[in-house]
Amino acid sequence: MKAMRLMAPGAPLVAVELSLPAPREHELRIAVEACGVCRTDLHVYDGELPDIHCPLTPGHEVVGRVAEVGAAVTRFRPGDRVGVPWLAYTCGECAYCRSGRENLCREARFTGYTYDGGYAEELTADSRYCLPLPEGPAAELAPLLCAGLIGYRAYRAAGVAPTLGLYGFGAAAHLIAQVAQHEGRRVLAFTRPGDSQAQGFARSLGATWAGGSDERAPEPLDAAILFAPVGALIPAALAAVRPGGRVVCAGIHMSDVPAFPYSLLWGERSIASVANLTRRDGEEFLALAARLGLKCTVERLALEDANRALERLRTGELTGAAVLEMPAAASVATPRARP
Ligand SMILES: [Zn+2]
Ligand SMILES: [Zn+2]
Repeated sequence: MKAMRLMAPGAPLVAVELSLPAPREHELRIAVEACGVCRTDLHVYDGELPDIHCPLTPGHEVVGRVAEVGAAVTRFRPGDRVGVPWLAYTCGECAYCRSGRENLCREARFTGYTYDGGYAEELTADSRYCLPLPEGPAAELAPLLCAGLIGYRAYRAAGVAPTLGLYGFGAAAHLIAQVAQHEGRRVLAFTRPGDSQAQGFARSLGATWAGGSDERAPEPLDAAILFAPVGALIPAALAAVRPGGRVVCAGIHMSDVPAFPYSLLWGERSIASVANLTRRDGEEFLALAARLGLKCTVERLALEDANRALERLRTGELTGAAVLEMPAAASVATPRARP
């Protein structure tokens, strides 16, 4: 099978032919149909995360079909549609794992970072961390698996916020804006200065205001979520939220936060980060996405175009999410009727 692999941080991904071993006890071998391209993939590519072991196949928004199951797998059968998210393994025994916070487990492993991911025609994944997915176009499900899911974790962390600011209007924000709308919240979108295309996109999804992150918010925010990995947005967002408001950082990496006067934090404002996800987040969010009929706006690219997809994400040229599609995957396995 073909995979696009990172051979060294910062060097373009290389197309490589690989063969996968048979799945171990709890694993699935999955024929990939589509894999979303996430901002975190860029941090991996750029070597901004610790302990990156190359060669590595990135990608943690994986939609595929089960091709083969390990001996101990009972949840899935060949032909099932599954999603492989970022969280790939946890110890199950530490204080975090035992208190519903497996996202903070120190032994946690991650798809497309510590384990090979979905920029490939196939991957193996621990079935206990895979999520059942509905039918429908694979490319339009992929962004739900990280952009949607971690965006939703950040959205919940923002608390009760009738007026919500979203900084960075990409894959995650375009999904969370829809959730916020359904809950009757007002969304204000802050984009790169001068990015009129992203601002128009935000308005088309119901944002009541959209402007550059250098612009003053037209009204005080109850909370803000930062999807853009720009530390300077933290003081900017603090200045925009009212007393008692929260600023939630949703990304795994950010440029340094500049010094700012305490008066911006004063008034019981707070700053929080959101790290990884739990399996429960996945189940809850996918159910919500189906119930609300969330629409992913995607730009489809071929697996071989992974470098171009990453570059388009970096330069902010995308509208919505970039997704790598594997045309061959559809013919590998077809869904079976359940008894
Ligand atoms: Zn643990
Ligand atoms: Zn991600």
